[in-house]
Amino acid sequence: MMQLFIPLNFLGFVYREIRGALANIERMFDIMANVPQVEDQDTASPLSPSIGAIKFNNVSFQYDQRSILKQVSFDVPAGKKIAVVGDSGAGKSTIIKLLFRFYDVKSGAITIDGVDIRDLTQLALRKSIAIVPQDTVLFNDSIYENIRYGRPDATEEDIKQATQLAHLSDFIESLPDKGNTKVGERGLKLSGGEKQRVAIARAVLKGAPILVFDEATSSLDSRSEQAILNALRDAAKGHTSLVVAHRLSTIIDADQIVVLSKGCIVEHGTHSSLLAQQGLYSRLWHIQHEQNNLQAD
Ligand code: ATP
Repeated sequence: MMQLFIPLNFLGFVYREIRGALANIERMFDIMANVPQVEDQDTASPLSPSIGAIKFNNVSFQYDQRSILKQVSFDVPAGKKIAVVGDSGAGKSTIIKLLFRFYDVKSGAITIDGVDIRDLTQLALRKSIAIVPQDTVLFNDSIYENIRYGRPDATEEDIKQATQLAHLSDFIESLPDKGNTKVGERGLKLSGGEKQRVAIARAVLKGAPILVFDEATSSLDSRSEQAILNALRDAAKGHTSLVVAHRLSTIIDADQIVVLSKGCIVEHGTHSSLLAQQGLYSRLWHIQHEQNNLQAD
């Protein structure tokens, strides 16, 4: 019986490994389904922007015939943090997709360090941007290997520094195998907030001048939210950052907040100046505040 048990046990192990690998491949196909619809120009520069000053200049964009962004203009000076907020469907994530050049703008231009992103190779452009997506892809590997994915040649020391900036060190220390602990299929063994901090560490490790954070819509408890806020604040140091925010508490400290409604910028300013304007931002802020108070009751 024992002789039979060992091979069956082994087969079970092989099955789980293959299933895990297939889940990862599946995710890779999800990513590849988003294959960019743009091509490099023959004259495109392979040099990545190194400073990271972003400019949206009268950018308009449509999906099929549907107008999504209308003459959107804003600047993100090097080293500053800009947040984009607005109702669901306002076009916030589209701004990130255009910056990453998954699609080309229909009119206007996006520049980084004064260079139109259409004049860069896609590789050069994407090297200059690290993104923390809404839904992080984690592989069934250790936490450290998942972070290393941001820069495959990173040393363990680099990875540890990134985990510190992402406020993950204490959590990792509490695990039985520390950084070598496996995260489970698609990161199932991690909470939503921990997954996002792994994504922040991965993005920091990439060492790109621009950091983009597409905040997940799912709500987190206030401790997890605070941990992410701290991670983001430290990760953003020395970077130009663009944050698409759903929870306005995340972006109180932004240098500039851009408020989108139906694809148009309707307001912009700091948190306090926007509250004083008593417009859309102020209404969104009060609605979220009331919701939070109700949840706390
Ligand atoms: P949310 O806060 O809900 O994430 P958002 O402000 O980020 O919304 P976007 O994802 O930018 O909104 O979408 C803007 C509009 O574009 C939406 O109406 C959406 O349905 C539409 N849209 C997004 N992606 C596509 C696509 N690939 N093809 C067609 N329409 C799309």
